[in-house]
Amino acid sequence: MERTILHCDCNGFYASVESVLDPELSTVPMAVCGDPKSRHGIILAKNELAKKYGIVTAETVWKAQRKCPDLVLVKPHHDEYRRYSKRVNEIYCRYTDQVEPFGIDESWLDVTGSRRLFGSGKEIADSLRREVREQTGLTISVGVSFNKVFAKLGSDYKKPDATTVIDKDNWKQIVWPLPVSALLYVGKSAERELDSLFIKTIGDLAAAEPKRLTQRLGKLGSTLYEYANGLDSSEVRRYDEPREIKSVGNGMTFSRDLTSYEDAKIGIFALADEVATRLRKYGLCACTIQLQIKDTEFKVVSRQKPLANPTALASELAEGAMQLLYASYNGSSPIRMLTVTAANLVEEGQAAEQVSFFGEQPIDREKKKNLETAIDSLRGKFGRGMISTGAILGSDIGLEGGHHNEEE
Ligand SMILES: [Mg+2]
Repeated sequence: MERTILHCDCNGFYASVESVLDPELSTVPMAVCGDPKSRHGIILAKNELAKKYGIVTAETVWKAQRKCPDLVLVKPHHDEYRRYSKRVNEIYCRYTDQVEPFGIDESWLDVTGSRRLFGSGKEIADSLRREVREQTGLTISVGVSFNKVFAKLGSDYKKPDATTVIDKDNWKQIVWPLPVSALLYVGKSAERELDSLFIKTIGDLAAAEPKRLTQRLGKLGSTLYEYANGLDSSEVRRYDEPREIKSVGNGMTFSRDLTSYEDAKIGIFALADEVATRLRKYGLCACTIQLQIKDTEFKVVSRQKPLANPTALASELAEGAMQLLYASYNGSSPIRMLTVTAANLVEEGQAAEQVSFFGEQPIDREKKKNLETAIDSLRGKFGRGMISTGAILGSDIGLEGGHHNEEE
């Protein structure tokens, strides 16, 4: 049976929640930014009026204020964003129990089994838009399709507050002319690779030689080829399904052997950074950190330790991994590969309770968390290369490629 999948995306989520909390904000040009008092703070979100002044996400407050001197600046309220996210997902759950959140403001819904009760995919999408608007004050755009990838593409196609249907009759007309970057998992680096093969649109990708794609992009190449041809059969998870993810790991073989603590530290921070981003995406925290060191003779040492707090912070994961490194590496023999793995995972909400119980400095951690979450959202928009630390950028150990992400 043909599936009916919806992808629902809250429009301008941070800025919209701020306007719901303080309706005055919807009458003025407004932006949410990391630190409103710092001219070097970065714009995280803006409302429609601010958009008219040409204000864009990720520019500095200083630059934005030059475009619009009366711009009203608001600091992010992550607790409220989580609260609204939950409310919106609860509305989705009235239509199906297959609701799979993707980040804080997007979810997939499989409504195949709900059509008899609630109407066609488009009718359900329109009902959802109305209910979310009336009950939360937020607007969503919805893509309706026969797989997750095209549903996601559809929610991006027309917004705000719109429904786009991509079905078996019109998908080639709608999808193939779009740039490859519109496809799920095509980031900046994949886009560059595809561009070098003269593949610019999803149609080009669909007609490409699968073997060449695999040569250039590895497994991602064959996945993207299937997506471009409408062949995505991945399922929408149930909302109440326990997370099957037991660990999130990231390993890398470096372009040259690492021969000092300094070298290894740069590698560990880059790996921990990626692990942290993925943990935050799933709303999970790690209680245990693992480090695996492979030497040039392929001998492997694995160590693990509990973390002081359940965490999804790159800095704390890296710190834990560094302690393992100091305990198990002499600081001079050559290292070929490092893997950092976050294990013993708990839901973020559970983790927060444990942290306050142990009385760690919650304010400092909250600050760090806000910063790292802000970085996630910028990377989501502009690709991973957008923000890297100086040490990573200046290093010659080959951090640009060759990652092996693992989830178990
Ligand atoms: Mg959104």
